[in-house]
Amino acid sequence: MNCLICGTTFQPSPTWRKLFLYEKESSTCDRCFSNFKKSDATIDFSDFQGTCYEGAVDTVTALYSYNEAMKSYLHQYKFLQDVALAQVFAKTLHQAFEGNEGIVVPIPMHPEKLIQRTFAQVDELLNSADIPFQHLLSKTATSEQGKKTRKERLEASPLFEVMNRVEAQHYILFDDIYTTGATLHHAAKLLKDAGATRVEAITLIKG
Ligand SMILES: [Zn+2]
Repeated sequence: MNCLICGTTFQPSPTWRKLFLYEKESSTCDRCFSNFKKSDATIDFSDFQGTCYEGAVDTVTALYSYNEAMKSYLHQYKFLQDVALAQVFAKTLHQAFEGNEGIVVPIPMHPEKLIQRTFAQVDELLNSADIPFQHLLSKTATSEQGKKTRKERLEASPLFEVMNRVEAQHYILFDDIYTTGATLHHAAKLLKDAGATRVEAITLIKG
């Protein structure tokens, strides 16, 4: 099989999990995959203390840190629109969600951005890992988060609206990258206000 990142041929190593359990096949060679670094950052919610978003997100798990390998992966996946690259993290994501009971809700893209980017990158990461999800939110704001100050981001009007029924259940938000946390806190608050009992979040990257 050919590595999705460097293109060299590699032999996926057999593991006992593959024999007895469901396990996704690796789509990258060990050398390329070892360039991604697991994140050990603890996520700090102190920015949200004392705001209406305090307590909206129960826990966040970010799987990888943002390094050179991740930067070039994201560039190719998001901006060069190489949808096949969704497979690179299929196995890790499948394991991260395995046994985690909750309804998975991807953070949506604004429809205008979806046209530019041609496919919903966050949804495709879940699809590639065979993780079922529900679309409960739609994006209302187009303004780029990165151009705002921290205060402006916290005070901004909600970035999303709820478009389907939210149950008194456990939800798991999924996004590609955790930077300021504003996106996930906005989304989590909407779900909690609509009746969700617990809102966790998983992101591929800690920015
Ligand atoms: Zn490779």
